[in-house]
Amino acid sequence: MVVDNQLVDAVGRGRLEVVDPATAEVVTTVPAAADVDVDRAVAAAKRAFGGWARTPASVRAALLNEVADAIEEHGEELARIDSIDNGTPISMLRNDVRLAVTQLRYFAGLALELRGQSIPPPAGGLNYTVHEPFGVVGRIVPFNHPLMFAATKIAAPLIAGNTVVLKPSEHTSLSALRIGELCAGILPPGVLNVVTGLGVTAGARLTAHPDVSRIAFTGSVATGLAIQRQAAADRVKTVTLELGGKNPLLVFPDADLEAAVAGAVNGMNFTWQGQSCGSTSRAYVHRTLWAEFLGRLQEAVGRLQVGDPQNDDTDVGAIVCRSQFERIARFVEAGLADPRARLIAGGEVKDPGAGFFVPPTVFAFDGGECDSPLLAEEIFGPVLSVVPFDEYGEAIARANRLPLGLTASVWTTDLGTAMRAVQDLEAGYVWVNASSIHIAGAPFGGFKNSGVGREEGIEELYSYAQQKNVYIKF
Ligand code: NAD
Repeated sequence: MVVDNQLVDAVGRGRLEVVDPATAEVVTTVPAAADVDVDRAVAAAKRAFGGWARTPASVRAALLNEVADAIEEHGEELARIDSIDNGTPISMLRNDVRLAVTQLRYFAGLALELRGQSIPPPAGGLNYTVHEPFGVVGRIVPFNHPLMFAATKIAAPLIAGNTVVLKPSEHTSLSALRIGELCAGILPPGVLNVVTGLGVTAGARLTAHPDVSRIAFTGSVATGLAIQRQAAADRVKTVTLELGGKNPLLVFPDADLEAAVAGAVNGMNFTWQGQSCGSTSRAYVHRTLWAEFLGRLQEAVGRLQVGDPQNDDTDVGAIVCRSQFERIARFVEAGLADPRARLIAGGEVKDPGAGFFVPPTVFAFDGGECDSPLLAEEIFGPVLSVVPFDEYGEAIARANRLPLGLTASVWTTDLGTAMRAVQDLEAGYVWVNASSIHIAGAPFGGFKNSGVGREEGIEELYSYAQQKNVYIKF
């Protein structure tokens, strides 16, 4: 692990196995942090805080730009590490390197934008505000974009003057450790610390730690709820949550069908094995387009090549770990056993002994919406469910029926329908005639149980600072 710019083992020497999901073989081990290890990292971050907070913002920005340069320089290595650790095709991970570098430079560029205001007092004097960092930030990230999250989720808290303890997923710790090692040659000691370990031990300690003032979490709704409880154990903390989704994609009768089919394939993030929070995993298609949409979807999904994540031509790699594989397999089996669900593509789940592969799978619910778990639960795998609808109001009601609201995608050539749907959809990020695109600087985050707070834009930077109001009488 990386604490105080030193590479350290867990004090108790606990280890976690790192499994290559494409072969199901153990490739190495990483430290499993216990409470004492987390405490050591938090203490390092706490010691570093005063100096880092007083470092001029322009200097912090220059250092973050150096981190971006180092990640760019080591991009191929980091992409390779993630493809072994996470199972996603190397071509997609190279794109994550580019996104990470862009996002780091974006936040470095915002360093001088964390500005206060002056508010005229009623009778003389001066009233103004400043933005001050919180202190130690605990940053917990999931398995689906390991290097990208390890790099981008430290940017805003560091630029705002906080120090960070980063905990990657126990399934994908390697690239975060490598990024921590690279940062140790750039940032002052203790500014960024990386601890690896289980969520229920290391993660729980980090969120409940009395010296951690601010928690930022990206992961599942269930863990987000646990973190809110843990963080509230014995002090008040600021917590932001980027959680899961079961995101709808709506295809209205006037949609450009070819573009909508391509958008559904892209939106499902099959090339991430469906393991993306913003995946549009429920498609609602107007009945006039139903048969043709399904035919074209079947063809498009059939063209995706499942295979070795290390191969440049692979479209779909392996599921991150055995437990996720088994979870996805249960959903596929539920679909196969359900007479309401018609298999359109995929459906064969390979023997996990040979690696955790699930082919892109599509189920059509010809009879309309029903209580199938495939239409209600985030599968976080390459499984798309498609449902017909007849009326605008029906489509919107279906889309909004779940207690989640991360993204939504609308396909129509009618401006009125598009604008009406944008207004009616309960989601934090809505695409029209597009899917899955993230715009640097645009706020990403969820409505309802999909989260609290917004990231990827200037709002994220402000969320890592607390406002202080100052009134001077003279
Ligand atoms: P997860 O919730 O199982 O784990 C995420 C992280 O939380 C891991 O580092 C884990 O070790 C840690 N953790 C687990 N239990 C903990 C606890 N009690 N206290 C503290 N930390 C704990 O999620 P996952 O399976 O790694 O990732 C998939 C989920 O992440 C999906 O639901 C997906 O939608 C969501 N996600 C959301 C976004 C977003 O921006 N909204 C982005 C990516 C992924």
